[in-house]
Amino acid sequence: MQISVILQKGVELCPFLKWPLKKGAKSVSVAFFIQKYGGTSVGSTERIKNVARRVARFHAQGHQIVVVVSAMSGETNRLIALAHEVQDTPDPRELDVMISTGEQVSIALLCMALKELNVQAKSYTGSQVRILTDNSHTKARILSIDEDNIRADLDAGSVVVVAGFQGVGGDGSITTLGRGGSDTTGVALAAALNADECQIYTDVDGIYTTDPRVVPEARRLNTITFEEMLEMASLGSKVLQLRSVEFAGKYKVKLRVLSSFKDEGQGTLITFEEDGNMEQAVISGIAFNRDEAKITIIGVPDRPGIAYQILGPVADSNIDVDMIIQNVGHDGLTDFSFTVHRNDFNTTLNILKDKIQPHVDARDVVGGDRIAKVSVVGVGMRSHAGIASKMFRVLAEEGINIQMIATSEIKVSVVVDEKYMELAVRVLHKAFDLEQAR
Ligand code: ASP
Ligand code: MG
Repeated sequence: MQISVILQKGVELCPFLKWPLKKGAKSVSVAFFIQKYGGTSVGSTERIKNVARRVARFHAQGHQIVVVVSAMSGETNRLIALAHEVQDTPDPRELDVMISTGEQVSIALLCMALKELNVQAKSYTGSQVRILTDNSHTKARILSIDEDNIRADLDAGSVVVVAGFQGVGGDGSITTLGRGGSDTTGVALAAALNADECQIYTDVDGIYTTDPRVVPEARRLNTITFEEMLEMASLGSKVLQLRSVEFAGKYKVKLRVLSSFKDEGQGTLITFEEDGNMEQAVISGIAFNRDEAKITIIGVPDRPGIAYQILGPVADSNIDVDMIIQNVGHDGLTDFSFTVHRNDFNTTLNILKDKIQPHVDARDVVGGDRIAKVSVVGVGMRSHAGIASKMFRVLAEEGINIQMIATSEIKVSVVVDEKYMELAVRVLHKAFDLEQAR
């Protein structure tokens, strides 16, 4: 949606807004933004006032804005810990009732701060908007969003402030969308309301080639393709919730990650086409994940159905399996390894030992939770051979043993001993020239 207004004197457009000036250079197209602010960006009342100032600036430029906020940093963890003081496994419905309150505090405070700046603003919880979800408490999926209230407020010149991370189930229960779910609220609103751009304001100023805490030379990317972002998010980059990236892909939402602590900077734009002239490197980034554990079931009979017999009970316990490797059989036996989230390590090991090993007559079950996954990601891999072998050579030169390997069209992942993870990331970052400005 683009409307034309007369640009007020002295009002400057944000640097990354390159909306074309109309003839006569007096009017400029204004835009409709969803702006999502994460927990650290609203971590104190001072910071909330800062967010209000930024929103007010955009509003003064004539843009329509729906703001989505997270709970103040640490609040969701605090609430979850409270629940655990009362119930070992908190009742999911009641847990949602409680953890959704963090965001409710943030929307009210932000609206108050906006009103202090004489900006008309109105807050909505997820159920007041009517963000309808399924009924899977603590990991609900959005089914539909009512636009009517928000549209009416925007048309009346208000900033609309929506609580992230929450919705309402068909039975009227409050639901939440999984940790980091405010990103998904932002993207879903952008899709439903057909916004021009969904801006995710966070404590970093964009998507980096890798985590700058591990590699200080890491660089911010001006753009990253949606597919790369999807891989990065699923491989351990924590900047965006994976589901929000999936959502953006499905509905082609223009998504940008920016810092809420800096006034300038264009952040990182997630694009849908590979940009011919901008950043054509083969590798765009290196993701890593320490939260993994590896389990191997040794000497299982090599016969049809064995993978299902092993992984079926794991899946039935709602445990996500990541990498899977089955060796070529020898003398009718084979070894079968896979990785799971570190939190699921003990449960999975017990399932295998108690339920599976005796059934399939396996020799042994072994595992370790001191592993990490390191992945190189880039759409350029499609047209360049030798990325995997270069990665393996670089790791070999450092004496880093590779325990498992998985590849897709645009990524190569290896599992290594956790203690070599940072070294692996650093040497790969250098070997693939990621510190070089492009
Ligand atoms: N407050 C929720 C969490 O901490 C949702 C979010 O911040 O996106 O996970
Ligand atoms: Mg987040």
